[in-house]
Amino acid sequence: MNVLLVYAHPEPTSLNGALRDFSVKRLEAAGHAVRVSDLYAMNWKAVVDAGDSTEHVPGTAFNASLESKRAFANGTQSADIAAEQDKLKWADAVILQFPLWWFSMPAILKGWVERVYAYGFAYGVGEHSDQRWGDRYGEGSLAGKRAMLVVTAGGWEPHYGPRGINGPIDDILFPINHGVLFYPGFDVLPPFVVYRTSKMDAARFAQTCDALGRRLDELWSTRPIPYRRQNAGDYEIPECTLKEDILPGQAGLGVHIAK
Ligand code: FAD
Repeated sequence: MNVLLVYAHPEPTSLNGALRDFSVKRLEAAGHAVRVSDLYAMNWKAVVDAGDSTEHVPGTAFNASLESKRAFANGTQSADIAAEQDKLKWADAVILQFPLWWFSMPAILKGWVERVYAYGFAYGVGEHSDQRWGDRYGEGSLAGKRAMLVVTAGGWEPHYGPRGINGPIDDILFPINHGVLFYPGFDVLPPFVVYRTSKMDAARFAQTCDALGRRLDELWSTRPIPYRRQNAGDYEIPECTLKEDILPGQAGLGVHIAK
């Protein structure tokens, strides 16, 4: 299998760097082909702008969505964007690895998503009408591939528990798991989260690698998070609201997971 690891940490000797190196070795030892997009090492450009397309006419207004659509369709995207899309097409599984910074991914990784997820590639796919609202949330260009987050967090695990002050980790990661990964079609695996990183030592690092190694070994057998598919009958279309008879009276992020 082909695995793409998109990695966002500025320091190779960091905990994240050590976990990345472990993951690459483990996956390769299991016979998988691994490619790493090391965003800081690549000096990845994180901002969307007119330079993302070779067709932008200087002096004209820049519209991020429409220029993305045109550049993707015409093959005039900047080379760095096209190369990352090719890696995504190549991959059977994608791992996004990053330290939790301000309850989300580092800006450089957000910028990778914003630029690589072009209109026509990751969104704006399929028929959009009163009967259908595109191929998304379980369908789309990346359907059939698996994805998993590997995240390190300074906070303690209970801080991210059901009543923890930071909010439940599944809620915090929902915009990435459901929005960034499930939206264009990935089957999303439960995240691997390392908490309380300041208390890492050699013994705990070994335990963490054992646990991460098991998750990597089970990349193709782990049951994905059962997010509801947009076009499988659970939602009113085109409103895209959960049907009244499903979990009546309930709301919130959890309703989009079929228990
Ligand atoms: P490092 O700092 O590199 O290492 C952490 C510890 O692991 C160190 O003690 C180091 O000695 C040890 N270590 C490293 N490598 C090894 C190894 N091979 N073997 C054994 N021990 C090792 N946290 C939150 O919970 N929520 C937030 O919203 C949040 N926001 C943040 C925002 C910013 C801007 C920053 C800078 C930090 C934030 N943090 C937050 C904390 C952040 O998530 C952690 O600092 C980060 O996850 C730690 O990962 P690292 O790779 O940088 O660890």
